[in-house]
Amino acid sequence: MGHFPDFMKQIARKPDFYKGADRLLHVQRADEIRDPVFDSALQKRFNHHLSAGLALIPGAESAKPARLATGVPVGRPTTGFRQFSTVGPLLEIHRRQNRLARQHPPAGNPILIATDVVVERFEVEPANGQAGTPAHARVLHTSRGPLTLRRGKTNVILATGPIPNTTILLNSLGETFGNTGKRLTAHFRSGIKARFKPTRRWLGQGSLLQDGTDPDAGKSLPKEPAISACHVRGRVNENGLQWHIQVNGSYEPVGYQTQAGSDQEKAELSSRLFAGLAPDNGDTLTPEQAANTEGYIIVCMLHFIRFFSMTV
Ligand SMILES: Cc1cc2nc3c(=O)[nH]c(=O)nc-3n(C[C@H](O)[C@H](O)[C@H](O)COP(=O)(O)OP(=O)(O)OC[C@H]3O[C@@H](n4cnc5c(N)ncnc54)[C@H](O)[C@@H]3O)c2cc1C
Repeated sequence: MGHFPDFMKQIARKPDFYKGADRLLHVQRADEIRDPVFDSALQKRFNHHLSAGLALIPGAESAKPARLATGVPVGRPTTGFRQFSTVGPLLEIHRRQNRLARQHPPAGNPILIATDVVVERFEVEPANGQAGTPAHARVLHTSRGPLTLRRGKTNVILATGPIPNTTILLNSLGETFGNTGKRLTAHFRSGIKARFKPTRRWLGQGSLLQDGTDPDAGKSLPKEPAISACHVRGRVNENGLQWHIQVNGSYEPVGYQTQAGSDQEKAELSSRLFAGLAPDNGDTLTPEQAANTEGYIIVCMLHFIRFFSMTV
């Protein structure tokens, strides 16, 4: 968090900050998700091979099962994997606050959710607030009309994504507000996709024949589609900068796609399965990879390097 404002660094340093985030996002280690698609030999073998080969990766410090934000299905068993969605936690916070607000005396403030509304700008008091000058948002201008805010008692949280946030700030405070709109911060990401047919030795179930072939290749693989997710972390030796690699594996058993006809239908079946269940897989498969994924393990490596800023 090199160039983040001090108040944000202080919040992140609070002992319970990440515990609270883990709770909100329902973070689970990939090897602890009790769902057939994750709970398979694939996750165990990726854990094993990445840990065993750590010394071969320059600068690598650790390789662990990825920690994934997961959904909590309401009214369904809590085991089983769903991708995280903000809708459930948001409605839960809405329900909790409104319950607290109904108590006598009220034990919390109610939350109102407005849909189909675009925030355009807000007015501040005193007008034309400068960076470092205390100012209060007084009126929020939206596509559904203006909303008057309680004098000095309403905190406006901009959570519309980095570029719309900046647009709202520029619309509201003009171009004189600090560095607003002058610097874009992002991270570099590179993605590599590869596929291989696992041997029994890769699966830890035997060894190859002397000529390097595997007579039982494919026999001991999972019978169902499987997904794994690992996180490899390290530093660039020359300058100490951090890097992170997300290593996802996915596997479709032979015969899984026989229900599909054309190559396009097969690719769509595969994409539906993994788009709904897999962590962010980055780029899509090449047409050649997508046309024949059965019996292959597909590895997707997404490499992130420290944030960079550029002046625009
Ligand atoms: C392709 C892709 C892959 C990613 N993969 C990962 C990943 O694997 N893991 C990970 O941790 N992160 C990932 N991220 C990053 C992650 O999605 C973002 O960090 C996160 O969604 C930011 O959340 P947010 O609530 O700040 O903003 P957003 O999720 O962008 O939400 C902003 C909301 O505000 C709404 N909005 C915008 N303008 C206005 C307006 N004027 N008025 C009203 N509403 C407005 C938008 O419609 C949107 O619903 C990925 C991002 C992308 C684009």
